[in-house]
Amino acid sequence: MDDERDPEATLREWKESMQAEHADAIANPDPDAEHAIEGVTQVSYRVSFAYDADAGELRRETVEQVDDPAEPDLLSCSCGVRGMTREEAREHVAAARTE
Ligand SMILES: [Zn+2]
Repeated sequence: MDDERDPEATLREWKESMQAEHADAIANPDPDAEHAIEGVTQVSYRVSFAYDADAGELRRETVEQVDDPAEPDLLSCSCGVRGMTREEAREHVAAARTE
């Protein structure tokens, strides 16, 4: 099989090189950049509605928070490294401290 013409092999190589770059960016933080870790998370709310017969409309009645903010799945750094697990982000800032 000709590896160079195999799209799956090309994709696999691309993924491997992206992963290697990602691992390198985590392990070797830019010494001149600021490193601050953050992530985005969501909170769910239960919203209840009442039927307003005069207007023939649903009216929002109550909004109740149903859970606490969850741990973000992936974290990013202000230096531009994204998509880190909590452990990867820990390694990243720890490496930045020791540079
Ligand atoms: Zn960083």
